Amino acid sequence: MATSVEAFITSLDNRIDGIIDACTMCGRCAEVCPTPAVLEIEETAPEALATGVIDILKGAPHDEDAEAWARACCGTGHCIDVCAEGINPRFMLTMARRRLNERADIKPRRDTGREMFQWMSRGVRMLSRLQMPTDVLARLNPPMKRATSEQKLEIIFYTGCNLLKTPHIGLLCLDVLDRLNVRYEVYGGPGNCCGVLQFRLGDTENAGRQAIKTVERFQETGAAEVLAWCPTCHIQFGEIAMPSMEPSKDPIFDMNMFPVYLHRHLDKLKVFMTTPVKKKVALFEFPGSLGVTEAVTSVLSAIPGIEVVDLGLKRAGYQLSALETMPEYRARTVIEIFQAAEEQGVDSVCSVFHADHRELVSHDKAWPFDIINYMDLIGESLGIVEEDIFKRLKTMQDVDAIVASSADTIAEHGMDLDEARDAVMTYILEEQHVPIDRAAQAKLS
Ligand code: SF4
Ligand code: SF4
Repeated sequence: MATSVEAFITSLDNRIDGIIDACTMCGRCAEVCPTPAVLEIEETAPEALATGVIDILKGAPHDEDAEAWARACCGTGHCIDVCAEGINPRFMLTMARRRLNERADIKPRRDTGREMFQWMSRGVRMLSRLQMPTDVLARLNPPMKRATSEQKLEIIFYTGCNLLKTPHIGLLCLDVLDRLNVRYEVYGGPGNCCGVLQFRLGDTENAGRQAIKTVERFQETGAAEVLAWCPTCHIQFGEIAMPSMEPSKDPIFDMNMFPVYLHRHLDKLKVFMTTPVKKKVALFEFPGSLGVTEAVTSVLSAIPGIEVVDLGLKRAGYQLSALETMPEYRARTVIEIFQAAEEQGVDSVCSVFHADHRELVSHDKAWPFDIINYMDLIGESLGIVEEDIFKRLKTMQDVDAIVASSADTIAEHGMDLDEARDAVMTYILEEQHVPIDRAAQAKLS
């Protein structure tokens, strides 16, 4: 009998066969996609791009521009509801990348996946310990547990791996769930990974193994809904992993993005969001995490005193890290959003996702607005403040100052000082995609 992982891989392969059979290569998905223009391959006919992607899926010789398109797809999602054949082109391009990656030997890909996972896990462990004492860390990253039938939950709050690097955002989410009086538990951290790091390298076996394990943990709790914070996890589970799990593993829960849940419960939340926040704010948002921008805008607009400004910019991607394959475009995106926010005279630019927050806060002192996360505003309206320690540390821009500022937590967790310094350099100071200096930015825009 096929194992769960084998069944997962077979299902993905069957879904590819279904796409090959159904796709008419009309090119509608390529036509609405912003990525070919960013790559400057918009001259290639959309039909040719779509045909090239189907060729990749078949393992046939293919058009180079189609490969460039598939490799750069940043998940904008404009394509998702345009296909008359019911295909999700975002999934189709993900599978094309999988086929392209699978051409290289599995061993180095698997080794790279393992190294990336270890690198990411270390970053999460070090940054969360630098910022949180043990009792606070336990709230956001509780020890792994097995649920029992007495522990039926309404909700799982799923942090994904990296939210723990900016813990104040996660703590604010828990504060809100507490205020809504929901029975929930927190799952996340590298031990409950969605498998995306391995998947991106074409290590479908290990990616599937991780995703299946995490879904089984969710299932054991009996919770009816999993609230994902991270858009990458949400897409990985929602479009790739969960639709390919074997029938006996059919998820019995819905998985939705956290702000979409808040929007659904806005009437209840509004009762508590009573402290006026007199601010004009703009979102640092992307179209690809479907429904999230609309939900955040709606929730923030319900806070007395807040004006949410639409910067009116066209964007590609679902978060900044999705633009990794197009670094110049990524830098231009950040700069254009900041420039538009300055022109509109906003008080705050709000990150939506944690990974974007880590980049954006470094620019806080260079612009005339402050940079916060939208959860800071919801917290303020509820009368709750969680200090953005990551922002305090990152804006110091000095390894000694950061280590000194975290001396108490370093001592409490028994961290080695050299290791702490190395983590500050690697995961805080060197993780910088856009120069902070505005004169250097001007050359990029
Ligand atoms: S995936 Fe759909 S929209 Fe895209 S080329 Fe195929 S049939 Fe057309
Ligand atoms: S998800 Fe976006 S980038 Fe990818 S194909 Fe669709 S529109 Fe293009």
